[in-house]
Amino acid sequence: MEYQAKQLFAKHGVTVTEGIVATTPEEARAAAEQLGVVVVKAQVKAGGRGKAGGVKLARTPDEAEQHASDILGMEIKGLTVRRVLVAPGASIVDEYYFSFLLDRSNRQYLCIASVEGGVEIEEVAKTNPDAVKQIPIDPGAGVDEAKAREIVAEAAFPAELADQAVDMVLALWKVFVEEDATLVEVNPLARLEGDVLEALDGKVSLDENAEFRHEDHASFEDKEAADPLEAKAKAKGLNYVKLDGAVGIIGNGAGLVMSTLDVVAYAGEAHGGVTPANFLDIGGGASAQVMADGLDVILGDEQVKSVFVNVFGGITSCDAVANGIVGALEILGDDATKPLVVRLDGNNVEEGRRILEEKNHPLVTLVETMDGAADKAAELANA
Ligand code: GDP
Ligand code: MN
Repeated sequence: MEYQAKQLFAKHGVTVTEGIVATTPEEARAAAEQLGVVVVKAQVKAGGRGKAGGVKLARTPDEAEQHASDILGMEIKGLTVRRVLVAPGASIVDEYYFSFLLDRSNRQYLCIASVEGGVEIEEVAKTNPDAVKQIPIDPGAGVDEAKAREIVAEAAFPAELADQAVDMVLALWKVFVEEDATLVEVNPLARLEGDVLEALDGKVSLDENAEFRHEDHASFEDKEAADPLEAKAKAKGLNYVKLDGAVGIIGNGAGLVMSTLDVVAYAGEAHGGVTPANFLDIGGGASAQVMADGLDVILGDEQVKSVFVNVFGGITSCDAVANGIVGALEILGDDATKPLVVRLDGNNVEEGRRILEEKNHPLVTLVETMDGAADKAAELANA
């Protein structure tokens, strides 16, 4: 959220005014009494708040209270506004756009900058592409002062602001590197009266893979907005993403699970258009506990009508996986209520299939091929 991004900006020396966060109209009034003319800004993890009516200027504490009461509870892009930022009203002369981001396809970082900021940058890129400058950054070299000057010149920020802009670019680069961000975006980067450059808005995406070295990042998580199933899976250390369909998916390895989603979506076309209910990669281990945790999360999804367990035995052999499934069904007992289609292949597959056949659990159907299993799971979901 903007107020969190601004905390990170302040920490690394980006010129910014943090303002006061309010969760009630009364708190917004109190903040305005302290700050004078303010802007009341919806805090949700989505852009375009201004257009949606979530950013409003208030000249008096009364107005601030009124705006806060209008904005709190509002929905912006499906997200409920639970807090507002009350920021000192700035006198804007001009609005620029600036960002650093991870450019995966080119295996480098990218700086995007434009003197046509404030509005949606995607729109500017379409109507006036020359105004949006893209400057590649060598990940080994990073951004030093010379590179920052190059960026400022390329973006064509006004000459009288060049030194400030260079400092701003270096500070934003510090945020990007030191916080392990994949995106640092400022729109608008505003030129204020008196020729001061300030980050009036901020958006930062943090790399979850680096969580272990940033204890403070946990506090940025929006727990109220998190999907309850995703939260539960996260607490159990599972790699789970909730989707909208009816076929629950468990697999080992992200690539196999993604292929499974495709195969199920395709098979579903012949069965009333059913689609996958989730992504769940249980990774290398397939112990009874991991299997039970995975099944528990998936079965907790009301939309799920069947589950497809698709495992390729590698280091974890198929017999271990089969024992994991049997053990999971014992752990879950009566909580396991939906049909399971299991496809095993790879290391020690005969023994794995033998274990499941011998157990002959009423909920479990063994299918040999991935396509066949996807078809069966889709059929059961549509039954
Ligand atoms: P977004 O719409 O979600 O990107 O929210 P922003 O924080 O970028 O606000 C949208 C627009 O509101 C900005 O482009 C500014 O024009 C305006 N705005 C934001 N903060 C201020 C402020 O402090 N003073 C003034 N005058 N306008 C502001
Ligand atoms: Mn903005």
